[in-house]
Parts: sequence; structure tokens; C-alpha cells
Amino acid sequence: MPYQAPTGTADLLPEQAWRWDAIQRQAASVFSRYGYQLIDTPIFEQLDVFVRGIGEATDVVGKEMYLAFSQHAVEAIAAGQAPKAKDTLALRPEQTAGVARAVVQHNLVPPGGAAIKLWYAGSMFRHERPQKGRLREFHQIGTECLGAAEPSADAEVILMLMDFFEGLGIPRASMRLLVNSMGDDACRPAYRQVVREFILAHADGLCPECVRRADSNPLRAFDCKNPDCQAVLAAAPLITDSLCPQCAEHYATVRQLLTEAGCDFEQAPRLVRGLDYYTRTVFEVQVTDGLGSQNAIGGGGRYDKLLAEFGGKPTPGLGFAVGFERICLALDAAGVAAPVLPLPEVFVAAVDTQARAAAFALAGQLRSAGLRAELDHQNRSLKSQLKAADKSGASWVAILGPDELAAGQLTLRHLASHEEQRTTTQQAIELIRGER
Ligand code: AMP
Repeated sequence: MPYQAPTGTADLLPEQAWRWDAIQRQAASVFSRYGYQLIDTPIFEQLDVFVRGIGEATDVVGKEMYLAFSQHAVEAIAAGQAPKAKDTLALRPEQTAGVARAVVQHNLVPPGGAAIKLWYAGSMFRHERPQKGRLREFHQIGTECLGAAEPSADAEVILMLMDFFEGLGIPRASMRLLVNSMGDDACRPAYRQVVREFILAHADGLCPECVRRADSNPLRAFDCKNPDCQAVLAAAPLITDSLCPQCAEHYATVRQLLTEAGCDFEQAPRLVRGLDYYTRTVFEVQVTDGLGSQNAIGGGGRYDKLLAEFGGKPTPGLGFAVGFERICLALDAAGVAAPVLPLPEVFVAAVDTQARAAAFALAGQLRSAGLRAELDHQNRSLKSQLKAADKSGASWVAILGPDELAAGQLTLRHLASHEEQRTTTQQAIELIRGER
């Protein structure tokens, strides 16, 4: 095989592509009930958008970005010229930064205006070590709500996420909803300092990566998968003990609203989202079987400082992203079948060469009537066409030969019952529709 899809990518063959489409349709249906509208932003942005929006100290920006240069920019670099910032592009590793950039650019949340609710779906790119449920090109669906500071917005987003997952068929009992508050500018800096000191004081028992993070991004140490680090960090001070009164109250209201809505959750005081922009509420949904270590199927939180990073007015925001590939693993583990590909309803067969043009025209009429119609383009014999009809999954075959053409009719055969009848095109359309 001369060429293979790049490492860490996967072709979405029709069955998988159809599942991706079905999940997006489910997202559109659930999210619209909560007032969300679809947005699409470019697959690449200026690198700075991600550096600002995600943070230089994150793995995503520091280690996992795919840069994208035009041929023109490459030639300039080769000639020793530094590329301009606007020519230094990167493939998006997530879409929140792009959406935030678009919201500021188009002034979608004017001061004093209503909150805006947006959702997106598409490919994201991160240069990670590929494994089950972790790819370099993967697909996310996400939502962003901008302009709403109240804790009811946080609770609503979390309930919508659970609604979405349950609607897909992931059993509620196999999902764990983890929530935490990461504080804000008033209380997080002091907590970061406390964790930094804790890491430095326990450096002997921690991996070099965690120690390195002490200065750049100490809270990320909680994400370390190394069991020795986890054991040491289990004794670290908790953010929930350091929240300022405003953050504590906000978090308490989110929990109260979730409880009142009958939504089970666990408080996870060591849950920190990897991206720098989160403030206050963070959450993650994990599934308890089928995914191994990559068990997070979605997560998100509040990011009240992000829009200001892009030159907008300070505007509260919150959202989540869910990963399509991991949702598929969770659905497979739950025994939820992938949606069946749309099969042809009727196969048009020509008895001889003379009838081919009429068969072609008939397929056109059936399609115009809204039916899924298929026909042979490989000059096969009638026998082979009938075999192909059977294989295609169609329920009906419309047969055209000299007799039918002379009578201005067709023979409609029902494949399951083998019953046959002579009909007009209109009668055939009604019969086929009747069986849907
Ligand atoms: P994040 O953008 O890192 O908060 O991730 C949100 C969700 O995207 C995760 O819960 C996963 O379901 C999915 N995800 C993140 N990174 C990957 C990846 N490399 N491969 C597949 N899915 C991913």
C-alpha cells in the first residue's frame, strides 16, 4: 500500500461518517432546545489565537500544535525572513479560542446585550501519542455560552451535556459527572502558590514533569497519570478550601441547582482542566467501562477571562467539548448499535440495452419523488442486476423491458415476498412510500 492515512488519524468510512453525522444531528436537536445556534470557524487560525486563548504553559500549545505555513511563508523563512504573525498559522487543537475570537471580531455580545449560545462540530488536531481513544486528528462537538455569569448558566450547561449523552444512549449509570470550582483571579493565584510550594516540598516523590510544572502551571500536576505522583498529590491542599466567598457561593449554587434537577454528580476537588482559561466551575464526564485510561468523554467549564484576552470587553463564558471517537467507544461498550446507513428503497433494472435509457429516466423520476433509487452503471445482465438489487438492501425492484415500455408501465417486484405487479410510475411511488 503506497500511502496510508497519517499516524494518529482515521478515515471516517461511510458507517463511521454516518455515525458522526447522526451524533451531530442529536447535538443540533438537544442544543436547540436550550437556545444554541450552530457556528463554524476556520480550521486554522493565527497561532497567537491559540497561544493567547489556551495559554503558552499548556501541553496543547507548548507541545502539541500543528503549525501551518503557506508555500509563500516557507519560502520567506528559507530566505531567512521571520514569518509575519498573520502568516504563522496553526491547525486548531480545540475550538473555544476560535469561537471567542469570532465573537469579539463580530461583536456578537455587545455590552448590555443578551447572552449568546453557540455550538460547533469539527476536526481538531493535537500532536499526541496515539492510543485507543486518543488521536492526532479527532472530532469534537462543543458549546459556548457567552455573556452569562450566573451559576444557573453553569447548571444549565451541565444538564444539557448529560441530556445529550443520555439521548445518544449512553446509560446514566455508566457515567460519572465530576464537578469542581477552580476559583477566579481573587483566589486562584494564592492557591497556585500553595500548590507550587507543596510540589517543591515534595519534589523527591514526584516525576520531573510535575516538578517542572511547579513554576509554569502547578495545578496541571493534578492531571499527572503517574500513580506515585497521584499518591503524593492526594495530600496536597484542596482548591475548595481556598475559594473566596464569591466563588464558594457560585459553586454552592451550581451544586444546589444540579441536585434540585435530580442530576447526580461527584465533587472532584482535584479536577483541573488542562487549559489555562478556566475560572470557577469545571466539569468532566467519565465513563466507567470501555475506554481504559482515556475515559473522559467530555468536559468543560467557565472561562470568564477569555474574551478580554482577544480584546473584547470582559465577558463571562462557559462551555464544553465532547470527543466523537470516545463517544463511539462508550456507545459500543453500552451495546448501542451504529445507525444503519440509508439504503436504496428501490432498484431500477433494465431487461435489455434498449430499456436502459428508460430505466435511467425512471430512476430520476423516483428520486424527484423523494425516494432513494439506485440502478446499474456496469452494463450488467438482468440476472446480475437483480442480484445487485438484493445486495443493495432495496426492498423493491422496478423492472423495465420491451413489454413494460410498450404499455407505458413497469413491473414492480417486492423482494421479500417475491410478489410482482404491473404499475404506472405513480402507483409504484405510492406503493414504495406506503412501505416506509
Ligand atoms: P479537551 O478539549 O482537552 O477539554 O477535551 C474535550 C474532549 O475531547 C475529551 O473529553 C475527549 O473526549 C476529546 N479529546 C481530547 N483530546 C482528544 C484526542 N487526542 N483524541 C480523541 N479525543 C480527544
